[in-house]
Amino acid sequence: MTIAESPDLVLTSYVDGEWRQGPAESSDTNPATPKEVVATVSLADAALAERAVRTAAAARAEWRDTRPAIRGEVLRKAADLLIDRAADIGRDLTREEGKTLAEGVREVNAAASILRYHAAQVYEPDGETYPSMQDDVVLFTRREPMGVVSVITPWNFPISIPAWKIGPALAYGNTVVWKPADLVPLTAVHLTRALIDAGLPGGVLNLVLGKGSEVGDVLTGHSEVAAVSFTGSNTVGRRIQNLAGAAGKKVQLELGGKNPAIVLADADLERTAKEVASAAFAGSGQKCTATSRVIVERTVAGDFVDSLRAEAAAWMPGDPLEAGSAIGPVSSADQLRGVLGYLDLAERDGARAVTGGGRAGGDLAEGYFVEPTVLVDVKPGHPVAREEIFGPVAVVLPAGSYDEAVELANDTPYGLSASLFTSDLSRAMRFSRDSHTGIVKVNQSTSGVEFHVPFGGAKESGSGHREQGKAAREFFTESKTVYIGY
Ligand code: NAP
Ligand code: MG
Repeated sequence: MTIAESPDLVLTSYVDGEWRQGPAESSDTNPATPKEVVATVSLADAALAERAVRTAAAARAEWRDTRPAIRGEVLRKAADLLIDRAADIGRDLTREEGKTLAEGVREVNAAASILRYHAAQVYEPDGETYPSMQDDVVLFTRREPMGVVSVITPWNFPISIPAWKIGPALAYGNTVVWKPADLVPLTAVHLTRALIDAGLPGGVLNLVLGKGSEVGDVLTGHSEVAAVSFTGSNTVGRRIQNLAGAAGKKVQLELGGKNPAIVLADADLERTAKEVASAAFAGSGQKCTATSRVIVERTVAGDFVDSLRAEAAAWMPGDPLEAGSAIGPVSSADQLRGVLGYLDLAERDGARAVTGGGRAGGDLAEGYFVEPTVLVDVKPGHPVAREEIFGPVAVVLPAGSYDEAVELANDTPYGLSASLFTSDLSRAMRFSRDSHTGIVKVNQSTSGVEFHVPFGGAKESGSGHREQGKAAREFFTESKTVYIGY
C-alpha cells in the first residue's frame, strides 16, 4: 500500500454560511495505513458550536416558510450531486473509515436515494381532519417543524446515517446543527458541500467539526435546540437523554445492538451459513445491526460451525481500496484495542476460536485489521455473549429447542435486530411476535435495512422512537390541533 500523506487539506466547520476554522487541530487518518494523514481537521470549540446553534435559530423562520417543493428540490439536487461525485466521495469515505471501496461507493449512492425519498415526502399529507362534535367547526391537525434540530452521528455509516436524519429534518422545514463523528470529517464535508452546491441557504445547515466532549453539551443542552437525533453508543446516548430530555427537548436515540441469528435444524444450512457470515463479518462487523450471536439448534451445531468456518474464509481482510478485498480494517486504534480485548478475555475464560481470533498479520500488520472470528465454547453469561463487540466476531451458542433459542436471543439488554433461519412458517410467524427487537427478519441477515420503512431498536437499543420512512415525519415535526369555527 502506498502512503499518500495529504495534511495540506484542512477541513473546517461550516457555520453561518461560511467555512470557519476552530482553535485546535487534529489529524484524520487512514485505519488501513495509520501513518497516512487523509486531512488535517480544524476543530470547533464550544463557542463555534454556540454560534452554529444561534445561526440555525436565526435561519429557522425563513426555512420553515420556504415552500415544501423548494425544500424538496434542494434535497433532490444534492442527491444528483452525490451520484455524480460517488466515486470520489466513496474513496474518501474508505480512506477515513476503512470499509471497502465498493461499500463506500454503495453507501454514497444509498445516501442519494435516501435524500430523494425525503424530497418526495414533502408532497405527502401533513395532517388529518376530524369530524367536530360542535356545529360549524372544522377540526384538523397539521404537522409543523420542530425548529432547530441537533444531529449527532457515528462513524460507521458516515454518509447514509447523516442523510437519513438531515434529509427529513430539512424536508420538513427544520434548521440543523450537525456534529459528525471525529473519525469521518471528510465525508461530512462532502455531504455538506453537496447540500450547499444544491442551493441550501447559508445557516440552514451548520456543520460542527469538533470533539463530542467539547461541543456535545452545547448541541444537546442549548435552549434554542428543540430536538436531538443521535446515533451512537449507549454511554453517550444516555448522557444526551439525561441532559436534553431533562430540558424538555425531543430526543431520538439509536444505540447499540447484540443481534442474534437463530439457526434451527430445519433451515437451509448452506444458505444460512452464507447469510450469517455476511451478517457477522461484512464491514468488519461494525454495524449496529451486525449479527454477533449465532444461536444454533444443538443437533446441527457441529455441522453448522464447520460451514460457518468455511464461509469465514471468504471474509478475509485486505486493502479496502483493492477490488478483491472482502473487508477492510476496523476504524480506529480504539476499536482495535476493544475488539482484541474481547478476544483475549474469551480465550482466557475457555472459549475457542475455530477460525480467526486476532489481528491480521503480513502486509496488513500496520493497519487495524482483524481476522473474521468464530468463537465456540462460550458461556451464555460471558461478556462476549452479552456486550457489543463491534468487530468481525461471531459467538456461537447452542440451544436445545426453538423456545430455548428465543429465550437466549432475548436475554440481553439490547433489542435492535434479530434473525431466525427456518423452513417452518409457523415458527417464522411466531418469531415475529416473540423476538423483543425493533427489527425481525426470517431467513435474512440481521443487517441490511431498507430506507423507506421504520428503523430502530427496542429496550436499551433506542429511545422508543423510530426513524426513516414515514416515521421520520413523526420525529422531525410536531402536531398542532386546529379548531376553526365559521
Ligand atoms: P459514540 O462514541 O457514541 O459517538 C457517536 C457520536 O456522539 C459521535 O459524533 C461523537 O463525537 C458524539 N459524542 C461523543 N461524546 C458526546 C457528548 N458528550 N455529547 C454529544 N455527542 C457526543 O459512537 P461511535 O463510536 O461513533 O459509534 C459506534 C456506536 O454506534 C455503536 O455502539 C453502534 O452500535 C452504534 N450505532 C447504532 C446505530 C443504530 O442505528 N442503532 C447505527 C450505527 C451505530 P466524537 O466522535 O467526536 O467523540
Ligand atoms: Mg480517520
